[in-house]
Amino acid sequence: MTDHRPSREVDVERVLAAYRDHINAGLASLCKFMGFEAVEWKAEGCKIWDTEGREYLDLLAGFGTLALGHRPPAVVAAVKEQLDRMPLASRVLFDETVADLAAELAEILPGEIAKMFFCHSGTEAVEGALKLARLYTGRRKIVAAEDGFHGKTLGSLSASGREVYKQPFAPMVPGFTHVPFGDADALAGAVDEETAAVILEPIQGEGGVIIPPDDYLPAAREVCDRTGALLILDEVQTGLGRTGSMFACTEAGVAPDIICLAKALGGGVMPLGAFAGTPKIWAVMEENPLLHSSTLGGNPLACAAGLATIREMKRLDLPLCARQLGEKALASLRDLQSAHPDVISEVRGRGLLLGVQFTHADIAGLVIGGLAQRRVIAAYTLNNPLVVRIEPPLVITEDELEQGLGALREAVEQAAELVSSLEE
Ligand code: PMP
Repeated sequence: MTDHRPSREVDVERVLAAYRDHINAGLASLCKFMGFEAVEWKAEGCKIWDTEGREYLDLLAGFGTLALGHRPPAVVAAVKEQLDRMPLASRVLFDETVADLAAELAEILPGEIAKMFFCHSGTEAVEGALKLARLYTGRRKIVAAEDGFHGKTLGSLSASGREVYKQPFAPMVPGFTHVPFGDADALAGAVDEETAAVILEPIQGEGGVIIPPDDYLPAAREVCDRTGALLILDEVQTGLGRTGSMFACTEAGVAPDIICLAKALGGGVMPLGAFAGTPKIWAVMEENPLLHSSTLGGNPLACAAGLATIREMKRLDLPLCARQLGEKALASLRDLQSAHPDVISEVRGRGLLLGVQFTHADIAGLVIGGLAQRRVIAAYTLNNPLVVRIEPPLVITEDELEQGLGALREAVEQAAELVSSLEE
C-alpha cells in the first residue's frame, strides 16, 4: 500500500494555530466542531490524505469545484505546460490558450451565447452579469429569488437571498427585489418594464438543492421576453455536468441571455470563472472594451485548465456519469429516508447535486460529524443548514459512491439513535 504521508515533518499544531491566530478563529472552530481537525496533504480523484496518511473520501468536491476529481491528470498536464511557457499574459498581445478556451466554450454554451469574459470566481461572474444587464437595458431593477446564492461581494450578495449574510453589511446595492423561488406568478408580478434582469439558479444549490417546477424556467424566459428584461442564469454550481447535462438550463429547454460559470470550469486545478452572453447583448461591452476589466482574470494558466477541463468533460461524458450515478444515489437516499423518516424529512436532487434534508439543523450537524468520524467529507448547504449536500466529483466510481453512502447510512443511524435516546 502506498504511504501517503509527507516526506517531511508537518507540525499540525502550528497549522491549526496559524488558522486560529492569522486567518479566522471562528472558521477554525467550525471545522473542528464538524470533526475535521487534520491537515490535508495530498489528493487524487475522490480521495484526500492528511499528514498522518489517513484517507478521506470527498463527497463535497470543494463545494462542486472538483467535477473531474482532485488533480485530474489531463488538466494538471495542460497547466504544467502553460506554466513552463507563459503563465500570465502580457495583456496586450493575443494569447492562443485564452482564444481556444473561448472558442470551445462558445461551442457548448446554450442558445446563442457566444461571447464571454473570464474572471476567477462565481461572485465575480455574477457581478459582471449584473453590470452587463444594467448596461444593455439601461434599466436598474434586478429580480432574484429568496434563498438564492450568488456570491458574497456586494452586488452578488444583493442578489443572494439569505438575510444572515446580508444584514450585517446593509445597505445592499439598490434595486434588488426577491421573490419565492419556483413561484412563476410571484416572478411575473415582480418583473416589469423597468427590470434589467431576472437572476436565478436553475436549481438552487446553496438554498438546499431546490428543484423548481418544470414550467418555472420557461415562465421566467417568457416574462423576460415580454418585458424586455434579461434572463441571467447562474450556473456556477449546476453548470458543466453536475446535474446530468452540460448546463442545467437545457434540461428545462431554456437558454438564458447571460450565463455565469465558475467552480468546475478550472478543473479543480485553477480558479476560473466566466460570464457569457449573446453577441447582440455583448455589443454594449464592445463600444468601450475597458468598461469591465480584471488584471488577472482570464490568465493563460487558468484558461489552460479550463480548456483541458472542457475537453475531458466531453471525452469522459461526465454529464452522463452524473446522471447515471445520481439516479442510483437518489434511490439509495430515498431508502435511507424511508428507514428514518423521523430524522430525514426529504431527499432530492438531480445528477450528482443531491441534498438530504434533516428535521433539525443539529441533526444535520451530527451527521456531518458522523461522516467526518468515518473520514468522509461533506457539508451543509450554505443557505440552508438543514440540508447535507452529496456533491462528489463526477468521476466518482460506483464503489466509492457506495462506500460514501454506506458511511452516510451509519452516520444517520447513529444520529437517529441519539435523538431517540434523548426523547426517552
Ligand atoms: N453562484 C452560485 C450558484 C454558487 O453556488 C456560488 C458558490 N457556492 C457562487 C455563485 C459564488 O461563487 P464563489 O464562491 O466562487 O464566489
